[in-house]
Amino acid sequence: MKSYEVCQCGAPLQLREQATPEPTGSEVLLRVLAAGVCHSDVHFWEGVYDLGGGKQLKMTDRGMTLPLTMGHETVGEIVAFGPDVNRLRTGDRRLVFPWIGCGECKVCQRGEEQLCLKPRFLGVFQPGGYSDHIMVPHPRYLLDIGDMPPEQAAPLACSGVTAYGALRKIGGALQTEPLLIIGAGGLGLMCLAILKSLGGHGAIVLDIDATKREAAKEAGALAVIDANAPDVVKQVQDAAGGGVWSAIDFVGAGSTVRVGIDCLTKGGKLIVVGLFGGEVTIPTLYIPAKAMTLQGSYTGILAELGELLDLVRHVPLPLIPVRRRPLDEAYAALTDLKEGKVIGRVVLAPAD
Ligand SMILES: [Zn+2]
Ligand SMILES: [Zn+2]
Repeated sequence: MKSYEVCQCGAPLQLREQATPEPTGSEVLLRVLAAGVCHSDVHFWEGVYDLGGGKQLKMTDRGMTLPLTMGHETVGEIVAFGPDVNRLRTGDRRLVFPWIGCGECKVCQRGEEQLCLKPRFLGVFQPGGYSDHIMVPHPRYLLDIGDMPPEQAAPLACSGVTAYGALRKIGGALQTEPLLIIGAGGLGLMCLAILKSLGGHGAIVLDIDATKREAAKEAGALAVIDANAPDVVKQVQDAAGGGVWSAIDFVGAGSTVRVGIDCLTKGGKLIVVGLFGGEVTIPTLYIPAKAMTLQGSYTGILAELGELLDLVRHVPLPLIPVRRRPLDEAYAALTDLKEGKVIGRVVLAPAD
C-alpha cells in the first residue's frame, strides 16, 4: 500500500509503502478511485487554526497524531471485508462518509457523529484517501454512488454534505426568501447548486474576488456583490428588498461574520461554516433586539449525505471542473491549492 503522509506540519508529504492491511471484524477495504484535495487539508497539514487576537488552535492538541494520511473525500472500489460483514460485493464503488465518531456516546447514538468528542474522522484522526487503499471501520459509512463519476461524487463527502447540512438548518425560508451566501469558493458554489436542486428561491452571493463573483453569477446567483464594497450591507438589502432572513458564511472571518449579522432582518439567522478564523465583536443588544440566531454548522451527518445523494440522483448537480492528478502529485496538489492556483477541485486518482 502506497500512501502520502504528513510527518511534520507544513513540511512536504512523505511517501510510505507498507503491506496492505487486511480487514477484520466489520472493516471494509477499498481501492481508492478518487481522493479529493480539500481546503481543510491545508489547515490539517499546517496544523493550526487562527483563533484571533494572536491565539492559535493546534490540531495536535485536538488529538491529531502524525504521521497522518490525509484525504476525507474518498470514492473507492470494495476489494475485501471482514468476517462480520455480509451483503457487500467486491468491485462495487462507494463514497466514504469520513466524519465518524466513537459510535457509543449519546451524540453518536443521536446520529451526530461529526460532533463526537472522540472523533475518528478518516483523513484527520485515522488514515484517509491520499493512498491507493483506505480502510473503513463499518459498511454503514459506505454510500452507493450509482453511475456518478468518482471524481464528481468524492467532494459530496465534504463540501457537499457541509453545504447541505448548513442549508438544512434554515428550513422553509429557503423556498420563499433570498439566501445570503458569503464566499463563492468551492463551498459557496456547491451551496448555490444544491439550493437550486432543492427548488430554493435563490441566493445573493458576496465575494471579494471578481472572478469568483462571475462564477457565482454564471451558476445562477440572484445578485453578486463585492464583499469589500464600503456599502456592502446596503447593496445586499437593496438586492433582497430589505434585510435577509438567512445567511450562510462559508468564510468565517471576523469581518464576514459581522457583515452577515448586519445584513439580517429581525428574526434572521446566520449559519457560520467557514474555518478562516479570527474574532468578532457585536453589540449584545443585537441578539435580543434583532431576535437573531447565530449558529455554527460542522460538516453534516451520515443521513444528510444519504439524502444529498438521493437528491442529486434525481436533480443532478452541475458538473464542477475537476482535475485528476496521480497520487504521486499529492503534495503538489496541496501546495497549488494553498497558493490559490486551483479552479474547481483537484482529485487524486491513484488507480489511473
Ligand atoms: Zn461518540
Ligand atoms: Zn473537506
